[in-house]
Amino acid sequence: MEKHIDILIVGAGISGIGLAAHLSKNCPQRQFDIIERRESFGGTWDLFKYPGIRSDSDMSTFGFNFKPWQKANVLADGASIKGYLSEVVDEYNLKNKIHFKHRVLSANYDSSLSKWVVQIEDAHQKKQTWMANFVLGCTGYYNYDHGFQPNFPNQAAFKGQLIHPQYWPENFDYKDKKVVIIGSGATAITLVPAMAKGGAAHVTMLQRSPTYIASIPSVDFVYDKMRKVLPEDLAYKLTRARNIGMQRGIYALAQKQPKLLRRLLLKSIEMQLKGKVDMKHFTPSYNPWDQRLCVVPDGDLFKVLRSGKASVETDQIEKFTENGIQLKSGQHLDADIIVSATGLEIQILGGIKATIDGKPMDTSKHMLYQGIMVSDVPNMAMIIGYINASWTLKVDIAAEYICRMINYMDKNGYDQVIAQGDQTELMEDTVMGSLSSGYIARAADVMPKQGKHAPWNVTNNYLADRKVLKNARFDDSVLKFQKHNAQVSAKPKLVS
Ligand SMILES: Cc1cc2nc3c(=O)[nH]c(=O)nc-3n(C[C@H](O)[C@H](O)[C@H](O)COP(=O)(O)OP(=O)(O)OC[C@H]3O[C@@H](n4cnc5c(N)ncnc54)[C@H](O)[C@@H]3O)c2cc1C
Repeated sequence: MEKHIDILIVGAGISGIGLAAHLSKNCPQRQFDIIERRESFGGTWDLFKYPGIRSDSDMSTFGFNFKPWQKANVLADGASIKGYLSEVVDEYNLKNKIHFKHRVLSANYDSSLSKWVVQIEDAHQKKQTWMANFVLGCTGYYNYDHGFQPNFPNQAAFKGQLIHPQYWPENFDYKDKKVVIIGSGATAITLVPAMAKGGAAHVTMLQRSPTYIASIPSVDFVYDKMRKVLPEDLAYKLTRARNIGMQRGIYALAQKQPKLLRRLLLKSIEMQLKGKVDMKHFTPSYNPWDQRLCVVPDGDLFKVLRSGKASVETDQIEKFTENGIQLKSGQHLDADIIVSATGLEIQILGGIKATIDGKPMDTSKHMLYQGIMVSDVPNMAMIIGYINASWTLKVDIAAEYICRMINYMDKNGYDQVIAQGDQTELMEDTVMGSLSSGYIARAADVMPKQGKHAPWNVTNNYLADRKVLKNARFDDSVLKFQKHNAQVSAKPKLVS
């Protein structure tokens, strides 16, 4: 079967849904289809089901710029985020544009046709060929098939259950069980209080090294009050502006005055622990924001640690044993369940094998023009959100830029655009920035790279990016437009 479509969006997570809504609003003359390998939309917020799963970004900036969050909670659980996305899907009539249980396997740009020839596996594992004018990658940054799972010494000896948070068993019963959670990132610090409160006999967080953790209020009383007296849109806009400013301010303080921010963060943790837990477990060796800063609502992690229902160990694993983990310090942690909150396996473009006229494309050797268009690849963009701020802030401005570019092409009758790369610009850092977190380091083999200067340098600074992307002209010396196929209309017919 062969289908001819116009714009192909890969992925119906926050990025794909957001981009689709922007396209509906700003490019009504164009058609698009969304290919989604799962049974439902939401991506991350559909996949992860572990206890306590929630955002660690505030929802006024993790929500879209065109749709107020409308609730007073600062962070949101997975189901609420899916509910919010479901409203966007309904409001923009996206459901019939999403092809669920379809997976993009490969995409070849055929320059003689000025089209992408895309291999898609459908719900019955049958392969189909689709032809598209544009491919827009909204596949997130990790592998949906495998989490990052180190091979622990003597792992097979453990007689209990070893679980990765990416594959949480449905209705998993951990009541009265001794749980050890390996990790110190956002997932581990969410799981510890959730499992401790959920009835585990005891939960131990086992970390190799400490992380900075800030406690934030769970309810935004100011937003809540504003919503009662101001129009919904305005209350959301003001809250968003305040939170963007705060996020940026904290990040800037980390860059300019790391020692001061470190002192402030450590002092606030000390006040939360009230002398009941050793500060060595929360005193990192690096500076704030060298790795992602973690947050907990109303200090929930510190409360369970204080109560004794949970504890934290900073140590190294010598080996797994039949009934737990032997640590290098000599201590043994008894466990019925071990949760390996060790992170994600980084993947780009959802594992799609991309080629240009049959020549393989190695994403790690490309840069992103304006942080969006893949260098030297025709009619391809990808949305990679912020790591040092809410992911969605980038989704909105990238989607608006893509819409503006498509409208510019339509106005001028172009059907192909290439951002012509300059290899002398290519740096070692990836577009995800220079954080020293493990997953950023693991990204080097697959992620597009930073360029030295604009428009190849990805600043990861929302306010700067917003200004640049809003005003960026398309008639620069980098973007090359072509009118390959004058007879192809902007609305190709579906000829399945
Ligand atoms: C547990 C967790 C919590 C997080 N919390 C936050 C947070 O609080 N704040 C923040 O800013 N960021 C957070 N992140 C980062 C998060 O991934 C993004 O914020 C955001 O949800 C990513 O959205 P996305 O649509 O780009 O990607 P995803 O959510 O990963 O969605 C990608 C979609 O593409 C589909 N897909 C992939 N490959 C293919 C293919 N070949 N064919 C068809 N479909 C495909 C997938 O099935 C999926 O539906 C978190 C990440 C995780 C794992």
